[in-house]
Amino acid sequence: MAKVAINLSTGALQQAEVIVGIDLGTTNSLVAYIHPEDKKPIAINDQGRGTIVPSVVHFAQNGETLVGTEAKDYLITDPANTIYSIKRLLGKSYRDLGEHKDYFGYKIIDDDSEGLVKVRVKDKFYSPIELSAEILKELRERAEHSLKTPVNRAVITVPAYFNDSQRQATRDAGKLAGLEVLRIVNEPTAAALAYGIGIDPNEEKTVAVYDLGGGTFDISILSLHQGIFEVLSTNGDTYLGGDDFDRAIINHWISENQLVADTINQDKNLSQELRLKAEEAKKVLSSQEVYTSNINGEIECHLERHTFERLVAPIVARTMENCRQAMADAKLKPEQIDAVIMVGGSTRVPMVYDAVSEFFGKPANNSHNPDEVVALGAAIQADILAGNRKDILLLDVTPLTLGIETMGGLMDPIISRNSKIPTKAGRQYTTSVDGQVNMKISVFQGERDIVKENRKLAEFDLKGIPAMPAGFPKVDVNFILNADGILKVEAIEVRSGTRQEVEVKPQYGLTDEQVEQMLMDSITHAKDDVSARMQIEARSTAEQMLYQVERFVDKNAEHLTEEEVALTRKNVQNLKNVLASGGDKDAIYGAVDVLEAQTSPFAERVMQISIKKAMSGKKID
Ligand code: AMP
Repeated sequence: MAKVAINLSTGALQQAEVIVGIDLGTTNSLVAYIHPEDKKPIAINDQGRGTIVPSVVHFAQNGETLVGTEAKDYLITDPANTIYSIKRLLGKSYRDLGEHKDYFGYKIIDDDSEGLVKVRVKDKFYSPIELSAEILKELRERAEHSLKTPVNRAVITVPAYFNDSQRQATRDAGKLAGLEVLRIVNEPTAAALAYGIGIDPNEEKTVAVYDLGGGTFDISILSLHQGIFEVLSTNGDTYLGGDDFDRAIINHWISENQLVADTINQDKNLSQELRLKAEEAKKVLSSQEVYTSNINGEIECHLERHTFERLVAPIVARTMENCRQAMADAKLKPEQIDAVIMVGGSTRVPMVYDAVSEFFGKPANNSHNPDEVVALGAAIQADILAGNRKDILLLDVTPLTLGIETMGGLMDPIISRNSKIPTKAGRQYTTSVDGQVNMKISVFQGERDIVKENRKLAEFDLKGIPAMPAGFPKVDVNFILNADGILKVEAIEVRSGTRQEVEVKPQYGLTDEQVEQMLMDSITHAKDDVSARMQIEARSTAEQMLYQVERFVDKNAEHLTEEEVALTRKNVQNLKNVLASGGDKDAIYGAVDVLEAQTSPFAERVMQISIKKAMSGKKID
């Protein structure tokens, strides 16, 4: 396997070019780079606007898109057009959101509970990938403006628990923002790198990374061995953070002040003011003992540190329980942890710092700014990949992405380019047609979203899938890439155990120049590719919907009124027309939405009828 180190914009080998590190966070995002003179990582502060860019996107009335602090101001005044916490939606289906569907102040589309969610803003539909790309574009522009040079390549961090689909979504967002994502790095790994852990390839260490942000909490236990970080365990709570501290303070003030208690529910301004004061109090109490302020000279806001600590103690205790669980999962005792690292703004609370240090029996590392530390580590990783740190071992990597063809001729990446080898990865697929007994597995290599632009390596049929309705068979496709770069692809139908495998040699026949060309093409066509992919996805969603609705109406016509059948036919026809006329993805999703809204009550009705029927046939004693 080759170690690819070429300059993608010029095709030249190894040339100094800025590669940035990006922390794409739930609440805040940052971009950092390595300063060319002192070689230290530094977070970019463009035009003195601060290093932190709130992860908020606002679609203004005049068609403009705002990102960051300016967008955040609209969270209260125009929530339907202001998107926050996009990271919580990345790579997720509506069903994945579970009990948290009401958390979001904007419209999330539930057309297709299995497919990836979309967000509706006015009459447009956005995927979380497009929305994340808006944030990445802003970060890229800030970096370009501040460094006065084009920025085309980046390392982006994700939580250690992110699955394959969430990682792929993050990569796609980068592509859409015009960035080549050299690597997706785990946030705790980046934080460790920022503290110099992992720089020496001979170092052996076990590290705990405690990350308490505004709305999420993660604890990760990592093991560093021969220059490779391995995640031993992760735990946490995706809905716990500094916002809960603020809420505890607000509730305390409400309980102390009858006037506030009586008016808070009606007075939106007051509740917003209180929220701001609560956050300010919390921050002040990280360095002082007492906080005193007021709202409009009328409402006193007073809090002492010991009261604050009593209020938040149960929340801190919950995070410690998560730490205990993570340690149990990693089968480690606190004394086996060599270093503890603090990440996230909420670790500035002294009580949090003390609790974590006490739990692990050693002082936690907090000398870096906890808001910036992940981005700083990402910048170091970027520098390593750029080949600027000769002292660091670059592991063997796959030069091009390996994947299989899915619906509509799209490339579904299984092993990403730059993954270190040996490696193994897999994904589960299903059938799209009732009674399908064969499945064609086509293996491709390349960076383009459309398979016909990539290189076909192998193709085989998985035969003997038991005939079942569409969506029922579960086919695991695994890619096993050994240290010599030989790829073994296996497909297994889980229920029947039917199995098939082939061996391919991905790099065979490709010269360095060809690899280089394929990479450069992927950069040139990145934006077109992502839009083509989105268009194909919209069409596939529509086709699946049409297939299901028509099948449903055929089978259950007796339970529907004539008007319902007629209206369904009309909406089906309308969707077919949109497809036939080559409508764009917004037009397609618009028509899908109408059909979905109209037909979704049918399924429930038919289900109830069949339950009643089943019950009437049985006697209950
Ligand atoms: P993050 O998601 O990592 O950006 O963390 C942001 C959270 O850190 C918010 O809840 C902030 O209120 C909180 N935070 C920032 N500064 C401080 C501070 N000095 N003391 C306590 N919490 C803070």
